[in-house]
Parts: sequence; structure tokens; C-alpha cells
Amino acid sequence: MVKICCIGAGYVGGPTMAMIALKCPDIEVVVVDIAVARINAWNSDRLPIFEPGLDEVVKACRGRNLFFSADVEKHVAAADIVFVSVNTPTKTRGLGAGKAADLTYWESAARMIADVSKSDKIVVEKSTVPVKTAEAIEKILTHNNKGINFQILSNPEFLAEGTAIEDLAKPDRVLIGGRETPEGRKAVEALKAVYAHWVPEENIITMNLWSAEISKLAANAILAQRISSINAMSALCEATGADVAEVAYAVGKDSRIGPKFLNASVGFGGSCFQKDILNLVYICECNGLTEVANYWKQVVQINDYQKSRFVKRVVSSMFNTVSGKKIAVLGFAFKKDTGDTRETAAIDVCHGLLGDNAKISVYDPQVTADQIMRDLAMNKFDWDHPQHLQPMSPTATKQVDVVWDAYEATKGAHGVCILTEWDEFKKLDYKRIYDGMQKPAFIFDGRNVINVDELRKIGFVVYSVGKPLDP
Ligand code: NAD
Repeated sequence: MVKICCIGAGYVGGPTMAMIALKCPDIEVVVVDIAVARINAWNSDRLPIFEPGLDEVVKACRGRNLFFSADVEKHVAAADIVFVSVNTPTKTRGLGAGKAADLTYWESAARMIADVSKSDKIVVEKSTVPVKTAEAIEKILTHNNKGINFQILSNPEFLAEGTAIEDLAKPDRVLIGGRETPEGRKAVEALKAVYAHWVPEENIITMNLWSAEISKLAANAILAQRISSINAMSALCEATGADVAEVAYAVGKDSRIGPKFLNASVGFGGSCFQKDILNLVYICECNGLTEVANYWKQVVQINDYQKSRFVKRVVSSMFNTVSGKKIAVLGFAFKKDTGDTRETAAIDVCHGLLGDNAKISVYDPQVTADQIMRDLAMNKFDWDHPQHLQPMSPTATKQVDVVWDAYEATKGAHGVCILTEWDEFKKLDYKRIYDGMQKPAFIFDGRNVINVDELRKIGFVVYSVGKPLDP
């Protein structure tokens, strides 16, 4: 029986390995992590992450051929294939701070693999890493000269949170990059055989290591660029009376462009887009490609602009101040169907409103009060001066209230900001919400989920990103 071990039981490692275990009953899969609480949660009825369909997949194979363990070294030593799916956040200090990927978790995982291994292994880069990481990892794995054959493969993950199970079950493509040597090709074939259990052969693409590493960064950069492009258009639509939804529809009908990822919004969030683009910017700078670096930097800058534009719109609409006013924030996760709040636009929007002394009442169906308070307790990260990261003032956090119901959040509010596109926000009783609010009642839709005409008929003053403003 082939044995797989995955280091890192997070948003990628957990669901990805659960899908491999489900589709490959002849393979033993063990997911390990140094975070014991996370492993305990994977072994419980309350999984550490919310992802539609994940509970069912885990239940189907946990204890059969899927295991979660904090005994990292034992399971790494026993594995034939070791996936490394640890976090690769942006460096916050030192060389490249604010842009470069922090590979300390990766390096310590690689050193541990080198130390505990007694047999040949295929080591798979599942985390998103800078191009040429495999070269560094090879050096680390072979530093102690034990004569073990380590083959490094790049197998970046393209799942999106919220649709991870669907994406894993029917991936658009699986990418495997390896060395162009006989051993490298053998390793590629071994990993291909795992995915071939359920992915059609034509969707498994093999290529050289560096192309595979760059492809992941390129895909995220181009996806984020589409969002920044439509968001930039949304500002022009608002200035001219055009409707960005109509523009996106017209543009997306062009088969060369296509309709996906053209929804204007308050801005993208999540742990990947900003981090991966900044990493790309850093790699370009290191290679002397300043103009290319500046081009990609704009994608992040437009995203920041969109978030601050939203806050300015809220404040200016509400007679130029939200001081002392209650603002209901509906949605805190960075997108629907996840409880993940990493880099969510909601953090920046809330900080902006708190900066003008608003009182905020937050409701999100999947994010805990603790998480929201933790996220808001830190000031906005200053990428140019990462050392300036300071806790937020205690007075500001006192102005935040987290509640478990949209009606409770909006009761007595002067304004409502919709910051995550949860389906339930489309079905709320907006007449009831209107009746419970201060007048004039303002609603600012950062995800374009509400029916603007219906809400205006109820009496709301409505702002929806990129749509014509209230007459
Ligand atoms: P995560 O923070 O949810 O999980 C990483 C896990 O690795 C953590 O539980 C951490 O405790 C563990 N870990 C760190 N160092 C370890 C070590 N030395 N030994 C054992 N465990 C260790 O991160 P994630 O969202 O799963 O992302 C992982 C990687 O996948 C990142 O590089 C990310 O860019 C990439 N990625 C993420 C997504 C996504 O949607 N989240 C999608 C595609 C790719």
C-alpha cells in the first residue's frame, strides 16, 4: 500500500488529503500538523474549517485510510510521498518584508524530513512557493548526505475556499512539475498515478519544475487582476451613471474574455491573492524586472483603493460623518461559504469606519466573535512599514459588537454594510430591517447581492458598487 503523509492540516492540506483518501482506497493518507488543537478538531465531529461537503468526505474515509495525527516525525518517516502544505505567509520583517514569502515553516518541515527519513521519498510542494524553491529544498533535504533519494515535485493547489470539495473532485487541471531526469520522471509518474484514480488523464499536466511553480503565482495574479480591472471600471461607472453589472455582462459575453471573475465588489481578500502577487512583485524585483513588478503592484493598489473608496462613500453619504452612529456589518468572511477571515476586506472597512468613530455591530454566519475581535484588534498592516504593526486602541475595540443575527445587527442602525455575499443576505426581510433602523436608512452593498430597486422602493438610500447612485 502506498503511504502518503501531508505536513500541514490547514485549508489546503485537510480537504486535499481527504479527497485523495476518498478517491484512492488503496492508499493510506495521514495528515500531520504541529498544531495539536487543529489535529484534535480534524479527529472530532467539529472540523477546524467550514467547507461545504467536507464533513461528508472526511466521515466517509476517516479511520479507513485517512488519519490525522500530531506525531509528525513518525508518519513522515513511514511515507513514500510527503506533501508539504504548510503556510507561506508574507514576510513581516527583514529582507523582503511586506512582499517576499516567509519560507521558515517550509524550511523547518524540509529539515525535519531530512532528519527523520530512512528511505527514498517523493517530496511534493503543495504550498504556494516562489519559483526556484525546489532548488533550495533539494539542498536542505540532501544536506546530511544520508544517501537517500529525494525527488521534489511541484504540485500547486488551485482549489478555492467555499468550493474546495467541488474543485478537488473535478479539477480544471492538476499540475505536476518535476526534474527532467529518469528519477524525476519516475516521481512524476508516481504522483500522476495517484491523481489518475479520478482525474482524466488529459487534465493532468506535467511540466518542468519552474513552470509549475510560476504557474500557480501567475494564475492567482491573473485572477486578482480581473477583479481589480472590474473594480477599477466600477469607479468609472459610478462617476458616469453606467452600471458595472451591465458592463461586465457585455464584456464577459466576448468568448475571449468569458464571464467569470467579473463581479465588482468592495475588493478581494483571502490568504492568497495579495500574498502571492506581492511575492511575484518581489521575485520580479529580485530579477531586475522593475516595470513588471510595478505592473503587478497596481493590482494590489487598486484593491486597497477600492476598499478605501467604499469607506469614503459610506462616510460621505451619511452627511460626512459616522461618528457615534451605529453601522451594521453583514458578513466578515472574505467570501461566502467559508469562515476564513484572512485579509478579508471587512477588516479594512471596519477599521476605516472605526477611524471615523462609528459603532459597529457585526454579524457573520460562520465567523466567531473571538475571531472578529482578534482580527479587529490589530491595526491595518502597513506593508511599507511592517515594523509599525501596533495593536488597535482599546477604545476602538469597545465600539465593536458581534451578534448572531442580521436583524439584531441592524436594529437601531443608521447604516448597513454588506461585506460578504452570503446567500442568506439575499433573502432577508429588508422591510423589517428598514422599520428597525434610524432614518434615513442607508444600505451599502459591497458585494452587489441585493435588489437595488426593491430596496429603494422600501425607502432605503442605496449604494451598490459600480451602480448608478440614488437619484
Ligand atoms: P493554513 O495556515 O490553513 O495551514 C497550514 C498548516 O501548516 C497549519 O495548520 C500549521 O500549523 C501547519 N504547519 C506549519 N509548519 C509546520 C511544520 N513544520 N510541521 C507541521 N505542520 C506545520 O494554510 P493553508 O490555507 O492551508 O495554505 C497552505 C499553503 O497552500 C499556502 O502556501 C497557501 O498559499 C497555499 N494555498 C492556499 C489556498 C487556500 O485557499 N487557502 C489555495 C491554494 C494554495
